[in-house]
Amino acid sequence: MSASLADLIQAAIAASARAYCPYSGYRVGAVLLATDGRTFTGCNVENAAYPAGICAERGALMKAVSEGAQAFNTLVVATQNGGSPCGVCRQMLFEFAPRLRVVCVTLAGDIVIDSTLDALLPRGFGRESL
Ligand code: ZN
Repeated sequence: MSASLADLIQAAIAASARAYCPYSGYRVGAVLLATDGRTFTGCNVENAAYPAGICAERGALMKAVSEGAQAFNTLVVATQNGGSPCGVCRQMLFEFAPRLRVVCVTLAGDIVIDSTLDALLPRGFGRESL
């Protein structure tokens, strides 16, 4: 049985508590729901060499792909203000799930964005673009 949206929101908020963000102080937690029902969480992991850090969304995606999941239904991202995924994460996710539901919530669980990846990344660059 797949996790409910409420379950996913709680998982994303819990993941945000594990964020390593000593530089920005901006905690991000993410959870990806795969079509097989599995969930994969991620948090942002910053680095003293700033560009080496990675976002929560891509952390979750790397975990998922490395464990054999490549199709996804829903992404939930939790931040202090319900911020949306960055452009790099949108592009990485577009590769696997252009029609992914993307829900952005605050750390209190309030939904700020409930959209789809193809709406957040119109005319995304995918395999058919090559
Ligand atoms: Zn990102």
